[in-house]
Amino acid sequence: MRYSKEIIEEVAARNDIIEVIGQFVDLKRKGSNYFGLCPFHKEKAASFSVSPSKQMYYCFGCNTGGDVISFCMEYGKMSFAEALQMLAERAGVSLQEEDESPKAKRIRYKRNKILEIIEEATKYYEYQLFNSNGEKGLSYLKERNVSDETIARFRLGFSNNLTRYLRKKGYSDALMLEAGLASHDERYGTHDKFWNRVMFPIQDVNSRVIGFGGRVVDNGQPKYMNSPETIVFDKGRNLFGVNGKINSIASGI
Ligand SMILES: [Zn+2]
Repeated sequence: MRYSKEIIEEVAARNDIIEVIGQFVDLKRKGSNYFGLCPFHKEKAASFSVSPSKQMYYCFGCNTGGDVISFCMEYGKMSFAEALQMLAERAGVSLQEEDESPKAKRIRYKRNKILEIIEEATKYYEYQLFNSNGEKGLSYLKERNVSDETIARFRLGFSNNLTRYLRKKGYSDALMLEAGLASHDERYGTHDKFWNRVMFPIQDVNSRVIGFGGRVVDNGQPKYMNSPETIVFDKGRNLFGVNGKINSIASGI
């Protein structure tokens, strides 16, 4: 699909570059610009700058630069169309989806179903953390001085009996598997992928949960486990959140 210059400009204008980049890079104001550690090359001094007035970013270390759309393309390893669609969604700008091909429509429908079930799982995990099932998880976080505010802000949770809950809600095993929330084998059939773990949601640029990292609170293995790749969580192409702030929180716990 081709997009008009006007619609591209509107999408860019409705997504403040400081807000978008600030979700993935810790930005500190210095004069009229913001600075942070460059997400595109390894560095210890902050040479990555973002200008609110120009709505552009530039790195003095590796010379990468551009606008909010090119940031998403580069950071999320997305095509121009994908970045534009994501930002349009974020800002509630319509890209005239009636022009969509039937295949694109099917994929969008499937993506939405998967995002919906993952959101349902996130809420359930959040609830479990403060339930008797989640006691171990909550005391684990408390021992590490994680505040209630951080728990709420990053939507941390605890995994326990998710598949049973989702089945009751009417979700199919097939969708749970596709969303990376369940595993399947001969012996146990379809069962929880994450069990007795503190859950760290991985969010995209629209603050939608697209996957999880799960940390054991006892001697279980593996110590840390991530969601498998799904149509909403493509580790090779879409690393949003994974190498962003949540990872620094998770690895510090
Ligand atoms: Zn750089």
